[in-house]
Amino acid sequence: MAHGVNGASREGAYAVSIHDVAPATWEACSRLLELLAPGAVAATLLVVPRYHGGPAADEVPGFGAELRARVAAGDEISLHGYLHRDDAGPPRGPLDWARRRLYTAAEGEFAALAEAEAARRLAAGLRCLTAMGLAVRSFVAPAWLLGPGSRRALAGTQLDYTASRDALIRIHDGSRVAAPSLVWSTRSAWRRRLSAQVNARRLQQHGASPLVRLALHPADAGHPEVLDAWREIIGTFKRTRRPMLEFDAFAGRGRLRGSAAG
Ligand SMILES: [Zn+2]
Repeated sequence: MAHGVNGASREGAYAVSIHDVAPATWEACSRLLELLAPGAVAATLLVVPRYHGGPAADEVPGFGAELRARVAAGDEISLHGYLHRDDAGPPRGPLDWARRRLYTAAEGEFAALAEAEAARRLAAGLRCLTAMGLAVRSFVAPAWLLGPGSRRALAGTQLDYTASRDALIRIHDGSRVAAPSLVWSTRSAWRRRLSAQVNARRLQQHGASPLVRLALHPADAGHPEVLDAWREIIGTFKRTRRPMLEFDAFAGRGRLRGSAAG
């Protein structure tokens, strides 16, 4: 067993992901990647093929090359929706509204899609990543909202893994690795203050969790206090936990030990 200074156990691991990677957000994503830079922690890049209906990522000159360079340096690519935006029609009732509008600002593209449409978007997204020369083995639904139609469509692909906010999930047998995420909501000052409190509480609550994930979003780069908070969390984790790529958690499962496993 590896133990760090002060007797702190380094049995626990952490994984960093950058959400909403697209040509339009690449500058902000690059600023987030700089937070990882001394020590070069590898990250999972969640790529959106046509973010908010913008240009197809594989048709934007130079973008594929940027991503291939990151992969060569150790990062992994995950497919993250197709448009990212939830355009599946009006919410059905107050619970559906809360889930799809209040919580996510209508960013849950795969929350309410019918299976055929989800399958079409998955195929188009995979074609786009393949055209950029990127290998991909996982799909993460925007806002982690994977509706039943999308779930069925996903089972028809060759992809191996997906994720919810609190777990990594193998698609074909549904097996899970507990992996709570920290995430900032940056849409307004009160949400940022609330996020700071929620994340502090989750850090405490999941302090013994074998794997904690840090989910960084391009919008975080626009708020110095959010960048500072990430810098502090990443600095602490570098001393107390081992870095790992999200979907290597299945391969490294036997090594993921901790009192809050499950
Ligand atoms: Zn996203």
